[in-house]
Amino acid sequence: MQTGKINVQTENIFPIIKKFLYSDHEIFLRELVSNAVDATKKLKALSSMGEFKGEVGDTKIEVILDKKKKTLTIRDRGIGMTGDDIVKYITQIAFSGAEEFVNKYKDKLDANAMIGHFGLGFYSAFMVAKEVEIISLSHKEGSVAARWICDGSPEYKLEDTKKDFRGTDIILHIADDSTEFLEDARIDTLLKKYCKFLPVEIKFGTKKDWVKDGDKKDKDGKDVEKEIEVDNIINNPSPLWTRKPADLKDEDYKAFYRELYPMNFDEPLFWIHLNVDYPFNLTGVLYFPKLKNNFEAPKDKIQLYSNQVFVTDNAEHVVPDFLMLLRGVIDSPDIPLNVSRSYLQADGNVKKISAHITKKVADKLEDLFKKDRPDFESKWNDIKIFVEYGMLSDDKFNEKAQKFALLTNTEGAKFTLEEYENRIRPSQTDKDKKLVYLYTSNVTEQHSYIQAAKDRGYDVIVFDTPLDPHFIGKLESTLKEVAFVRVDADTVEKLIKKDDGQVSKLSEEQKKELQPIVEEVISKEKFTVIFESLSEKDAPMMITRPEFMRRMKDMGSMGGGMSFYGEMPDMYNLVVNTNHPLIGKILAETNADKRKAISKQAADLAMLSQGLLKGEELTKFIKRSVELID
Ligand code: ADP
Repeated sequence: MQTGKINVQTENIFPIIKKFLYSDHEIFLRELVSNAVDATKKLKALSSMGEFKGEVGDTKIEVILDKKKKTLTIRDRGIGMTGDDIVKYITQIAFSGAEEFVNKYKDKLDANAMIGHFGLGFYSAFMVAKEVEIISLSHKEGSVAARWICDGSPEYKLEDTKKDFRGTDIILHIADDSTEFLEDARIDTLLKKYCKFLPVEIKFGTKKDWVKDGDKKDKDGKDVEKEIEVDNIINNPSPLWTRKPADLKDEDYKAFYRELYPMNFDEPLFWIHLNVDYPFNLTGVLYFPKLKNNFEAPKDKIQLYSNQVFVTDNAEHVVPDFLMLLRGVIDSPDIPLNVSRSYLQADGNVKKISAHITKKVADKLEDLFKKDRPDFESKWNDIKIFVEYGMLSDDKFNEKAQKFALLTNTEGAKFTLEEYENRIRPSQTDKDKKLVYLYTSNVTEQHSYIQAAKDRGYDVIVFDTPLDPHFIGKLESTLKEVAFVRVDADTVEKLIKKDDGQVSKLSEEQKKELQPIVEEVISKEKFTVIFESLSEKDAPMMITRPEFMRRMKDMGSMGGGMSFYGEMPDMYNLVVNTNHPLIGKILAETNADKRKAISKQAADLAMLSQGLLKGEELTKFIKRSVELID
């Protein structure tokens, strides 16, 4: 028997670990099972190199809960450790300056950062255990098994012992304030969270209750191995992303999607199998879910792994925001996953990875578009928001997406940006050579305006999602010499200004005379009366809402920094068509009441077609109309 002192600078590092890492206690299991996996992988590597000549045999890792003894054991059949190995690898840890570090950063650190910084994997056991035992038999020929025990103080005991098979048992004597880790369900959940795709099979079992069973001793009076009650394999050791794409069928990808997100019943639209080995290592599968128009953060998120160990499903800073709309797995040993987020943000590797994934996603979309356009078009509505968001937030993506981003017109036909430009150039170029894109945000409400534009031979694009106003802005800055104008922004003659238009039938004096007559029948705060010489066939009065005004208002209702504009009142133009016979009639009418009535009726009709005539005004209008028919 040997006693020794763990090589730490301070006497009480363990209480410090325990105290400051409180919220993340559960990760001890990830750390210990990962160590067991590493030890197993090392043994297999030694064996394949011929360095280990013995039988590798069954290498299942076992996690065993013993409620009676209040222990949780992590058992592997890996390389094992001799007593000397334990002293070297476990006790001679570089703790120098640890306390100082912890005190300095205690508010900012999470357990991941701590453990990453010090390589404290094994010691995370002390977050939940009052005593930790290591019983290990090294793979080295002629080794004697070693037993190490430590209660969290820097003092430990090390002695020779007996062990029947190669590998390491880490036995945690669970602390009184951590009994949650003696619950089957808790351990089961944790294993499924962190270890679901670890590359070595992991079995979880609970020992049968001794009280019920009666203690069993062998003839030497030692405990007999108890039977395991629940006993199931937790993980899938070769998850899909680690396999060769050539060996996989669509059905495999769909099945893996269900494995990742069992609570999700949608099928993915398509997927990208990532496989990079230069200049960094990264594998993974990204799935495109059906997004529709929901623009909320998805609850099923991309999961980050490091060598098949689950790290987080908060991939922020590792993938660009717009990619967070996707699902799937990213696995990279090159992402410094054990460090804090602020570090991740600044990390060069992470930036490269992010750029690479963006490129892969854009390439995949382009490929799908080229290979099977009808199929791509059929999926467009489900990926539109993703593509637009990507174009808005990432210049590189925007550049690539010029080839496959689609515009949909009111007939439902879809065009690339280039195709659409060619389509409208002949008819929608204004007198200043600007190309005017007409769009609608609501096909039903803006029906009469769409119709008028179509009658003129114009084409109208549908932009009806909350992201579209921003997307329009992006297109205006990307495409040159263009303007986007909503169909109801002006009368159809003026939507695309071709020449100086028709001559007015009314003189300036007559307009001045008409102005107060019209203003009398509308609310002056809401409407500005303007005169235009339109065709006789157009309506006598019309309501338009200038593009600029409406955009300000839209920005306001989207919230964010623009909310100031949300305070703006709704402002419209009441356009009086000076060439319409009815307007001439109003002017000629000498009876003031009658003149007002006609004027009111014409203004109400204009409002009615915009859906602005409501409540009492609408009731009065109907009543008046009936009287007119009589
Ligand atoms: P890290 O895993 O980051 O090196 P740890 O504190 O988790 O840090 O482990 C320290 C060392 O102890 C490991 O590098 C390994 O050599 C040894 N070790 C830990 N667990 C085992 C195990 N189950 N089997 C064999 N060696 C182990």
